[in-house]
Amino acid sequence: MQFTRERVMHELKRRTLRVTNVTRVAPDYARITVTSPELEGFEAPGPADHIKLIFGEAHGRPIMRDYTPLNFRETAEGYELDIDMVLHETDGPASDWAKEAAPGQLIQQAGPRGSKLAPAGITEMVLVADETAFPAVSRWLEAVSDAVTVHKFFFTVDERMRAYFDDQDDITWFDIDEAPEGILAELRKLTITDTTFAFLAGEAITITPCAAIYAAKPACASTNSTHRATGSVGLQSSTTTSHSTQKTLTSRTESASRPLLVRSKPLVQRREAPHVRQSNVLSLWPRNLGRLRRAH
Ligand SMILES: Cc1cc2nc3c(=O)[nH]c(=O)nc-3n(C[C@H](O)[C@H](O)[C@H](O)COP(=O)(O)OP(=O)(O)OC[C@H]3O[C@@H](n4cnc5c(N)ncnc54)[C@H](O)[C@@H]3O)c2cc1C
Repeated sequence: MQFTRERVMHELKRRTLRVTNVTRVAPDYARITVTSPELEGFEAPGPADHIKLIFGEAHGRPIMRDYTPLNFRETAEGYELDIDMVLHETDGPASDWAKEAAPGQLIQQAGPRGSKLAPAGITEMVLVADETAFPAVSRWLEAVSDAVTVHKFFFTVDERMRAYFDDQDDITWFDIDEAPEGILAELRKLTITDTTFAFLAGEAITITPCAAIYAAKPACASTNSTHRATGSVGLQSSTTTSHSTQKTLTSRTESASRPLLVRSKPLVQRREAPHVRQSNVLSLWPRNLGRLRRAH
């Protein structure tokens, strides 16, 4: 049996948004609500959709970071979008902006460029995520039907981040240091079928071996050949720099028997090597190296 995923493209727009509200969804995790008439027609129907927030320019190029558009709504006052942003301990343009965010502040935003809808026909879902992917996880949990069995393996730099999901008691939590081996061991216990879908997002040191488990499953073999036939497996990546280098490995076919979606960060210690190019990870997907550039 195979599942299907519909893909939708959007007109790429750049907008100026105004902050209307800032709350805490967990310690060091801000929910920032923005508004603008320019949000009219905003669409982000895919659970793993991401938008760009733009924090000025450096060397003539925009400084952009990826974020998940969490909730979008139309109110009597206009359109509102919630974005949940981790307030990282270390400085960075996005995190710094979020730490200071207050009503009235403006931010530039672009996208999303396209959306992949939640797959139809899955029976089981595996979610592996660090705190930056919690908004995406929330969207996945809303997107899949109650009939789908969901396995949740989450890891955090800071244990207090677990408060983000304090209404859920079926999560297996890991500290970031124990995540690579711990999550791998859990995943090995699971049976993967053609209707299992996995969303993996976090540091590559954890995510890359997890992705390998799925890639090695016999169920994936037929999908690989499908991919070869269509040339449609690829890495969508946004950046080369350290922790924020993330990638999405996904089937671009609309019908695939391998349900794997990966977003990962590089195999380095974030705080020790903040701007190192990650050739070790990228070498897994050499044809995508050219995409991994951004202004910083
Ligand atoms: C598709 C996608 C969707 C994303 N969605 C979200 C989202 O909804 N919410 C969210 O908070 N993040 C999200 N992220 C992650 C976010 O884009 C990065 O964390 C981003 O690098 C933060 O930018 P910055 O300018 O604060 O830090 P950067 O300039 O990129 O880095 C500066 C410093 O910040 C710290 N830092 C950055 N990222 C991390 C991290 N993940 N863990 C620990 N320390 C870190 C490091 O100490 C680093 O040295 C998403 C990323 C992708 C690819």
